[in-house]
Amino acid sequence: MFIDVDRFKLVNDSMGHDAGDELLRIVAKRLQYPIRKGDQLFRWGGDEFTVLLENVTDTNMVENMVRRIIDTLAEPIKLKEREVLVTTSVGIAMYSGEEDLNSVQLISNADAAMYRAKRAGRNGYKFYDSAMNDKAFERLTVETSFKQALRNGEFRLYYQPRLSVFSGKVTAVEALLRWQHPQHGLITPDKFIHLLEDSGLITEVGEWVLKSACKQLKKWQLAGMPSVRVSVNVSAKQLLFANIVDQVNRAISEANIDPHSLELEFAENLFVEDKKRVLQVMRQLKEIGVALSIDDFGFGYWPLSYLQSLPIDYIKISHEIVHGITENKGDLVTTRAIARLAHSMNIRLVAKGVENQGQVELLKKTCCHELQGYQVGKPSKPMQIPLIVAARDVPRVRKLALLQ
Ligand code: C2E
Ligand code: CA
Repeated sequence: MFIDVDRFKLVNDSMGHDAGDELLRIVAKRLQYPIRKGDQLFRWGGDEFTVLLENVTDTNMVENMVRRIIDTLAEPIKLKEREVLVTTSVGIAMYSGEEDLNSVQLISNADAAMYRAKRAGRNGYKFYDSAMNDKAFERLTVETSFKQALRNGEFRLYYQPRLSVFSGKVTAVEALLRWQHPQHGLITPDKFIHLLEDSGLITEVGEWVLKSACKQLKKWQLAGMPSVRVSVNVSAKQLLFANIVDQVNRAISEANIDPHSLELEFAENLFVEDKKRVLQVMRQLKEIGVALSIDDFGFGYWPLSYLQSLPIDYIKISHEIVHGITENKGDLVTTRAIARLAHSMNIRLVAKGVENQGQVELLKKTCCHELQGYQVGKPSKPMQIPLIVAARDVPRVRKLALLQ
């Protein structure tokens, strides 16, 4: 068993090393009660202990022992006239005598299981299984290659135009992440965004996306492109764990763009997270002046009263609903209901994944304000965007020419 005292460092840092030492002595003493006579207890180093159990006949016996260990250590500990609570994470690895395994591997397996127990929320235990090392290795290689990708500039942004139904002009372009992998070629985000989120690297890559999109907008503006907004996808992890408000402020000021020309898209499932915090961050972002939208709307993760309280400018209807509107009555009814809701709240409506003229016509009738999808423009490289924007701006140029 690999036993780790959670929050030991906190005690050490806040109450001093002598308190930390005392804590370890108390833990060591308490650990002796649940184990059997003949079992061996070691201090492994720092706040880690190991227990070697021999003659284990079944896992129930081990589990009972682990539970007792966790319970004993959960009792308040008196340190310097104060009561301190610690929790414990335990990893267990078994060796039947048949596998080809040495003691170092056995301990390292127990350590991997302990790490798992910690990640699962502390104050618990996990048995080792061989997938843990594979997963740990996979995680490590994935993290390393993302870090390399950032350093080597392998991430790219493509941009997809969004059109106004009324003027036919491009109102915004959505930044879509791509990974130009040296061996595997261009990779789309559905293959790796979840890995970035799991590894926590989404905060770094997300900041890169924000900065790059803002800088790109400035470049287009300097090149004389008619003004459009740039919209950036923000995942729940970024909103909750990165200081997104600071990141946005930095990106805007470094690129020297008008905050109103930046839009942030939040996935609808974000709203199952800490509602108060989401609202607070959104209000701060709104104060900066950026536009906010809810992406992939239509599956109802949250009550409408909550929607009303959010400072939202746009709702983007999920492409799954848009795809169905020409054939499926239910999808058309849903789109109309969302449109009514949006209009009553003064929120603009964007349809995603528009792929044919039939959908365009129906969406116009449903009072959608903006359209996005292959029918109006595919995600394109930055250099192609001014041409796309200019092509859609022709009616205005003609009108101006006629007026003169
Ligand atoms: P999304 O926000 O829903 O982005 C739209 C996706 O639909 C894009 O896929 C786009 O290429 C695709 N698409 C656009 N028009 C059509 C159409 O007419 N038909 C169909 N079938 N598909 C269409 P992409 O670029 O692969 O992005 C996938 C998702 O990855 C995005 O979905 C977004 O959730 C996420 N993502 C992309 N870039 C970023 C980023 O920088 N940060 C974060 N957090 N997520 C990102
Ligand atoms: Ca989006």
